[in-house]
Amino acid sequence: MNSDQVRAIAHELGFGAVGIGPSVPKRPEAHQAWIEAGCHGEMSWMETHRDVASDPDLVLPGAIRAICVLDRYPGVEPEEVPDRFGRIARYARGKDYHVHTLKRLREFGERLMSSYPGGAFRACVDTVPLLERDLASSAGLGRIGKHTLLIEPGKGSWAVLGVLLTTLPFEMDSPLIEDPCGTCTRCIEACPTDAITPWEVDARRCISYLTLEHRSAIPLPFHEGMGDWLAGCDICQEVCPHNQPTTARSKTPKAEALMPTKMGFDLLEVLGWSEEDRRDAFSGSALKRVKFDAIRRNALILLTNKACEGDSVARKILEEQLCTIESDEQAPDLLRQTAEMCRSRMV
Ligand code: SF4
Ligand code: SF4
Repeated sequence: MNSDQVRAIAHELGFGAVGIGPSVPKRPEAHQAWIEAGCHGEMSWMETHRDVASDPDLVLPGAIRAICVLDRYPGVEPEEVPDRFGRIARYARGKDYHVHTLKRLREFGERLMSSYPGGAFRACVDTVPLLERDLASSAGLGRIGKHTLLIEPGKGSWAVLGVLLTTLPFEMDSPLIEDPCGTCTRCIEACPTDAITPWEVDARRCISYLTLEHRSAIPLPFHEGMGDWLAGCDICQEVCPHNQPTTARSKTPKAEALMPTKMGFDLLEVLGWSEEDRRDAFSGSALKRVKFDAIRRNALILLTNKACEGDSVARKILEEQLCTIESDEQAPDLLRQTAEMCRSRMV
């Protein structure tokens, strides 16, 4: 089945790239082993729905192709980080891709459905635990690097992925064969929490997971490595040679909805937020599911990092914050436990 129309529609809908591959991932056993080892941490839904990752039939009965798309967002730009400030990962600096990419992917499916009424389509953007990177790699969009992210040749890894499963036998693209990494180990060396072994990231050590998905207290050994990352972490992408700014990369079209509006937040502001403030601050953003206590937990750790680096203003504010939490019997356990660990770093 000719795929020209698929490409034309993807282009009209503004996706940065499209590729068609098999619906079954190439390395499901690696994912199963990763879960067996507990590397998914507290993301219990991954364990509950682990079969879905290897069997797309559970998502769309009869699925035989994965039409993979990506939306690029701006990557490394020189940025001046204000004092006592928490950065957020670049994919979350614009509008929520879960909404904007998914909406267009659904439209993609509807338009194909009207041309091919016998087919079925299902749009997935982090909505079901598919192995999107694996599928995108098989669909020829790029290759997975040692940091486990998809690297597009000449464009890098600053992109979010979406998958449109279908029961129709569209002509497939060829996967790329070139290894993007070779002898490079920059991401492994730069990761502040040693989360990366080649082609595998232990979520339990990854700042992105710890700041966004981990609901409990963040273990003390990872606090310092969080640096100024309030929500997410881009370090392994920042250092990757495929992501260094070049004229060609800066001219590569980006998804309008993912253009950044915010680099992060003032830590004091975050520590003073009410639940309503958090909702307002994260409204329309991919961070909207980050819990109130979790973001305050992160801010407290980052402020401690600043204090430990010799920022006397941070130290003074931190002392006040710790005393307030310690004397408040109503303070949530998460904050009390975090405050205790932060206190231990101040002696
Ligand atoms: S996102 Fe940060 S913590 Fe996670 S693997 Fe990359 S560099 Fe390490
Ligand atoms: S930093 Fe080097 S090893 Fe890591 S993904 Fe990029 S090219 Fe591969």
